[in-house]
Amino acid sequence: MPILVMKFGGTSVADLDKIRNAAEKVKREVDRGYKVIVIVSAMSGKTNELVGWVDQTSPLYDAREYDAVVSSGENVTAGLMALTLQEMDVPARSWQGWQVPVKTSAAHAAARIEEIPRDNLDAKFDEGMDVAVVAGFQGLSPEGRITTLGRGGSDTTAVAFAAAFTAERCDIYTDVDGVYTTDPRITSKARKLDKIAFEEMLELASLGAKVLQTRSVELAMRYKVRLRVLSSFEENTPDSGTLVCDEEEIMESNVVSGVAYSRDEAKMTLISVADRPGIAAAIFGPLSEAGVNVDMIVQNISEDGRTDMTFSCPTDQVKRAERAIKEAKEHGEINFQELVADTDVAKVSVVGIGMRSHAGVAARMFQALRDENINIRVITTSEIKISVLIERKYMELAVQALHDAFGLETAA
Ligand code: ASP
Ligand code: MG
Repeated sequence: MPILVMKFGGTSVADLDKIRNAAEKVKREVDRGYKVIVIVSAMSGKTNELVGWVDQTSPLYDAREYDAVVSSGENVTAGLMALTLQEMDVPARSWQGWQVPVKTSAAHAAARIEEIPRDNLDAKFDEGMDVAVVAGFQGLSPEGRITTLGRGGSDTTAVAFAAAFTAERCDIYTDVDGVYTTDPRITSKARKLDKIAFEEMLELASLGAKVLQTRSVELAMRYKVRLRVLSSFEENTPDSGTLVCDEEEIMESNVVSGVAYSRDEAKMTLISVADRPGIAAAIFGPLSEAGVNVDMIVQNISEDGRTDMTFSCPTDQVKRAERAIKEAKEHGEINFQELVADTDVAKVSVVGIGMRSHAGVAARMFQALRDENINIRVITTSEIKISVLIERKYMELAVQALHDAFGLETAA
């Protein structure tokens, strides 16, 4: 009894017609002989509305009640999807998180899935149920209360079910037809990828390619769940969309698979800090306690025992970062001349597992930027990624230039 997980995001279940369209796709897989676990999001816009109601009622809300309210959007779509399938003579039943149960941690609004016992659903499959429609994004805490997994969490629900039920594949239906080499709004040369490795997707997802929640990709990588991203609004064939898979499944690929960007990155520099053991800990400890997500870090060479320390963080965390650093200075933990925040930057990155075995990627990247006269302010590299901070007004140009330089318009 092969099992398939099919997840439909908010735009794919935005109204009754769209739910019917999604149900037809489910029926097609049932007709092919699969038992299907359907994971649904709330109708698009619904979760935002629910969050707004909570905020208006209680600005410093009790997170347990936030979850009670915000999880409800998925319950509606799960029931409607089961009814729609029943109308098509497909034996289907809806399941809320607590009924499965999807056991999670107690971290309300940001819970982690800990375990999904198979017994309840398996028993129903054995009795002839073909489709279990599960409300995404929600679970049950050890105290027996409803939890939610953080925004975008139904992707993670889907991957967790695929892992728990050893599904053949986890299909993520959305409003785009796959993962692209870069944002098609920035260059019309962007090309849909047939396959992408988990690690590449992880870099692209965390860089802001919003197709998949980052945690869902981490989970898929850990359990080797083959993920397919595809459109709800097209007729799909077995090769549609983009398969996110283990790199061993990818025979040929370009050295660079994609160019990602992030507009909301700020560069912060502490000028003239004492260069002594423990200085990085004294700076980044308070930042992490303040909840600042530091990304790039560069320490300059030092002169006369002093150095400059530069890091990047999301633009909306600049104030928090400044406060944390000023407090550390007041407490005498660090000492510096000046703190300079530059919010006029953007991050552009090239990502590809091919970098592991090919030299010269960085040189090619820097040449392409030089040819456009774009000044690089900060550079960082990892095994499969090179990122630069540049002036924000050059972001689109940089993405286009790099897309061209690495020949991403055509497949390997
Ligand atoms: N409905 C939730 C949200 O909007 C979860 C999801 O759609 O993945 O964040
Ligand atoms: Mg989503």
